[in-house]
Amino acid sequence: MTTTETLIIGAGLTGLTAAYELHKAGKPFLLIEARDRIGGRILTSRTDGGAALELGATWLGKKHQELISLLSELGIGVFEQVTGGRAIYEAISTSPPQVVQLPHNDEPSYRIAGGSEMFIRELRSKILSTSVRLDEAVLALKGTPDYVEVTTAKGVYHAGIVISTLPPHLFTSKIQVSPALPSQLLNIAQQTHTWMGESIKVGLRYAKPFWREDGAPGGTIFSNVGPVSEMYDHTNIEESKYALKGFLNSAYHSLTREERRDMVLTQLRKYFGDVVDDYLAYEEGVWRQEPYTFVPYASHVLPHQHNGHPIFRDTYLDGRLLLAGSETAVVYPGYMDGAVRSGKRVALLV
Ligand SMILES: Cc1cc2nc3c(=O)[nH]c(=O)nc-3n(C[C@H](O)[C@H](O)[C@H](O)COP(=O)(O)OP(=O)(O)OC[C@H]3O[C@@H](n4cnc5c(N)ncnc54)[C@H](O)[C@@H]3O)c2cc1C
Repeated sequence: MTTTETLIIGAGLTGLTAAYELHKAGKPFLLIEARDRIGGRILTSRTDGGAALELGATWLGKKHQELISLLSELGIGVFEQVTGGRAIYEAISTSPPQVVQLPHNDEPSYRIAGGSEMFIRELRSKILSTSVRLDEAVLALKGTPDYVEVTTAKGVYHAGIVISTLPPHLFTSKIQVSPALPSQLLNIAQQTHTWMGESIKVGLRYAKPFWREDGAPGGTIFSNVGPVSEMYDHTNIEESKYALKGFLNSAYHSLTREERRDMVLTQLRKYFGDVVDDYLAYEEGVWRQEPYTFVPYASHVLPHQHNGHPIFRDTYLDGRLLLAGSETAVVYPGYMDGAVRSGKRVALLV
């Protein structure tokens, strides 16, 4: 049995931000993560040293002030998403795809220099490596007058304060809490959407950016026909490694990886020809298959439903259990900015 003043559940962006803030404040903590990696819904794939493919969070805007401020504090840059000014647009299956001019965008999107993973790696590098434990799922919390007993797959901890950074639906589905949490909280958490939890991201690395060549339509794709609904140029900031990355209709989660890859290639061949088959690597993130992100809902929930609900700002287990995570943030819930805000807010309560 290990004793700690504060135990943070989940080493996603919220958990790592909270840990970083506690570290700066000189307050001890332990961060327990179920997966064998940090980052949660931030996942950058770097196979073969090619372009870093974001299989999770990718874009931010200038409006995401807390996120931008933390990135700048850590010395991490951002760069504008390339659109090329044009897009391939497929309105209906009975009409051929068209190339359309994109209107001027007053609020461009930005990507994190070096990949979103740089952000979480940098946060982790600031805290003691002994305060992070990976591959250890939290299973149960039991409130007592003096501490919370935390049972994980590997042991038992006594913590003065426990911070959950799991999406509320996941937290209340997977972690058994006693005494039981109030039914109002359970009902709302069970109907709180986990942002992007159902999504499928696909990416293809290429040796050359054929979509950027003279006369080529560019790498921006919007399709109502699918199966890829949106795709973007995913070249690195140095413009030396090339990729296309987009979203696949989430209904295809039950197909095999090869079936999804073939569907993506078939669609891209329509726009660019056989050159799409010369890919160096195909990568995908099927988030619905990730048990530490997604659990099925008992009833239909709408995107962002109940995100930022005030009930998540109450404390539980006699003030010893605090709820955090991007979906609990009041501002930009579900996004990286919400995760940073939530991590900072909860660290101040400890
Ligand atoms: C495909 C996709 C695309 C996205 N695109 C964008 C984007 O472009 N811009 C943007 O701003 N946001 C985007 N997001 C959302 C963004 O990723 C999240 O808002 C943010 O990463 C959430 O961080 P978090 O720490 O709150 O939650 P999570 O990242 O979900 O972290 C929770 C952590 O808890 C861990 N965990 C789960 N169960 C247990 C357990 N029982 N015990 C211990 N640990 C556990 C998980 O493994 C995880 O590490 C995207 C998300 C996805 C999936």
